[in-house]
Amino acid sequence: MTELSGGPGLPQERRLVTAIPGTKSQELLARKGAAVAAGVGSVLPVFAARAGGGVIEDVDGNSLIDFGSGIAVTSVGSSAEAVVRRASAQLTDFTHTCFMVTPYEGYIAICEELAELTPGDHAKKSALFNSGAEAVENAVKIARAYTKRQAVVVFDHGYHGRTNLTMALTAKNMPYKHSFGPFAPEVYRVPVAYPYRWLNGAENCADEAAAQAIDMISKQVGAENVAAIVIEPVLGEGGFIEPAKGFLPKIVEFARDNGIVFVADEIQSGFCRTGQWFACEDEGIVPDLITTAKGIAGGLPLAAVTGRAEIMDAAHSGGLGGTYGGNPVACAAALGSIETMRELDLNAKAKRIEEVMKGRLSAMQEKFEIIGDIRGRGAMIAIELVQPGSKEPNPSATGALAKACHAAGLVVLTCGTYGNVLRFLPPLVIGEDLLNEGLDILEDVFRPALTPSTRARPVARPAPRT
Ligand SMILES: *Cc1c(COP(=O)(O)O)cnc(C)c1O
Repeated sequence: MTELSGGPGLPQERRLVTAIPGTKSQELLARKGAAVAAGVGSVLPVFAARAGGGVIEDVDGNSLIDFGSGIAVTSVGSSAEAVVRRASAQLTDFTHTCFMVTPYEGYIAICEELAELTPGDHAKKSALFNSGAEAVENAVKIARAYTKRQAVVVFDHGYHGRTNLTMALTAKNMPYKHSFGPFAPEVYRVPVAYPYRWLNGAENCADEAAAQAIDMISKQVGAENVAAIVIEPVLGEGGFIEPAKGFLPKIVEFARDNGIVFVADEIQSGFCRTGQWFACEDEGIVPDLITTAKGIAGGLPLAAVTGRAEIMDAAHSGGLGGTYGGNPVACAAALGSIETMRELDLNAKAKRIEEVMKGRLSAMQEKFEIIGDIRGRGAMIAIELVQPGSKEPNPSATGALAKACHAAGLVVLTCGTYGNVLRFLPPLVIGEDLLNEGLDILEDVFRPALTPSTRARPVARPAPRT
């Protein structure tokens, strides 16, 4: 794998020239504390100066390996040539006219791309928005207008955003919902097939979870009242949970049989992240509606709802939109991002990243008993950390390991309902040497972390697998 799209003059290397954070970042941290609301947290204490390819350079001249992609956004890198070129040209022409006032071609071009790239060869239409949460809200609006029903079904461990409706759709209280209620009504949560934590074992997970979910919907809500079932084909914030194979098709079938709009939230998993254009392709699922954002536009804010033309057209004229939705610069960036994905075959890159990562992580699991589970697809890979000899979540070790990675110049993120998942979302254009160096760092930080609760098992003893 070669280093790609690094932006001009940005060396693709890890380089630590100060402690993390350095003095300039410390000064900015003080200003942040004084000027920025406390509720807006930052994972790392360093401030970015430049970024591209597989690295982020901070204001003190440190260069960090990026296993975060700004939360699965910069799949093509943070300064991809085609994104910069197309967005710059659009900036020169015009920044905004509002598509609802005087429309422009870029918006249509993205909707055409979405119709082509998303699963299914039926007639499709799209509407563009600014953020993932906005896309999910609009998918619900559209499904309600189409079905003339109100209820929305979501799943344990699901994450769909931070606006009022999407907080209601999101499962986890802290930090997303706590003290921010009351939440939108007519939202119902049902079990998801989480193989690692299914009490009756992973092999029973898909069937049992689907049966429970369908039973709950039928008994507690009534299928005839449900407008939409909304699910992430790989659950992101909830811990990179891949629903056990067979679960999603059963839910889709139930939705079809009952006139319910099936919405795949691919905001994190879409656009080559899992080694396919969309994660739901893995089980051949064709959603009625699909929400996209994050990876779509190479770092600019853009989101979309795409789906069956007859469903998308159910909302009356003027019922969908927003001042900035489908901003022309963001559309130009998205065209550049999609061009890059095609030209560099980023699906193949994502699959190669999975191969390298899973190989290294499996070897680590043999040595470090706290690695309970390795999962994910493509460049959306995670490890779930537990207390040795059990499946008891280990959030303290997870936090400590993430901090140690940051201090060593590796950007990693945590996630998971229990706060015990380290997730890896490198840009798909990262060089393989940087990828391996990042994994070296990860392996190194596991060693000093071998406190009684995180100790290693003697290498000779085979790992008990569950
Ligand atoms: C990030 C995310 C959202 C929310 O997107 P924003 O752009 O932060 O509003 C919704 N759904 C999923 C699956 C996400 O990962």
